[in-house]
Amino acid sequence: MRITGSIKETRDQVKEWKAAGLSVALVPTMGYLHEGHRSLIDRARKENDKVVVSIFVNPMQFGPNEDLDAYPRDLDRDAKICEDGGVDLIFHPEVEEMYGPDFCGYVDMHTLPEKLCGASRPVHFRGVQTVVTKLFHIIPAHKAYFGQKDAQQLAIIRRMVIDLDFDIEIIGCPIIREDDGLAKSSRNTYLSAEERAQAVILNQSLDAAMDAIEAGETDATKVKQIITDTLNTCPLAKIDYVEVTSFDTIQPIEKVEGAVLIAIAVYIGTTRLIDNRIIL
Ligand code: AMP
Repeated sequence: MRITGSIKETRDQVKEWKAAGLSVALVPTMGYLHEGHRSLIDRARKENDKVVVSIFVNPMQFGPNEDLDAYPRDLDRDAKICEDGGVDLIFHPEVEEMYGPDFCGYVDMHTLPEKLCGASRPVHFRGVQTVVTKLFHIIPAHKAYFGQKDAQQLAIIRRMVIDLDFDIEIIGCPIIREDDGLAKSSRNTYLSAEERAQAVILNQSLDAAMDAIEAGETDATKVKQIITDTLNTCPLAKIDYVEVTSFDTIQPIEKVEGAVLIAIAVYIGTTRLIDNRIIL
């Protein structure tokens, strides 16, 4: 497995593979890999000849008071996980390699980034779209793998690929969870033992919503109330948002029908966690 921080080396390698007729996959990450990332790598490994993992904590997608400096990093550990997963190349650039001193080109869109996480993280999705665009140009893969854990991000990337005619297939992969149901996340390492125990409430509140929907509930307001009531039983939980939206447009809906995203963001102590259910 090769590890490089060079855009040129990475692009040349991917071009060489493609010229040899090999299929190439990209798994974009911010590192501190866990079984959620590993599931994306495993799927990419199964479906392609070559797998590239990018590891880059992208400053552009963090707001001024967010956790950019605290975000966990461990390249040696990540490299071992990638090696075990059969990854061919890790692209691990320095910030200066990605954003030169005169950098001023951004990728953005209307509507989809405005609600949910975009409402409390105004610059986040512009940063995500910009870095993913750059990664798609540096690593012109056939397929790119994203987790449904970041459902709004997945919807935005799918929209961006359609609207801007990227020649890449986006594959969405299911959420991997801890045994008690908490969605795996690099940010779970911020939780104290007590917070970790209470964080399970996110998944439980979504289970309660799904139970109601399976029993015939279609009123989005009632579904949101069930989630809010469940979250409010947890003393350490502070709700950022509870939303029922169309999965395609990320706009709130009144009735649960068609492709639906039920998404929540909750502070457990000072750590902001997200979770969701997608109904297709
Ligand atoms: P991150 O390193 O947090 O930017 O995540 C990189 C990719 O891994 C994104 O496409 C995430 O949606 C995906 N991912 C993160 N956590 C999980 C999880 N628990 N299950 C599945 N995919 C995940």
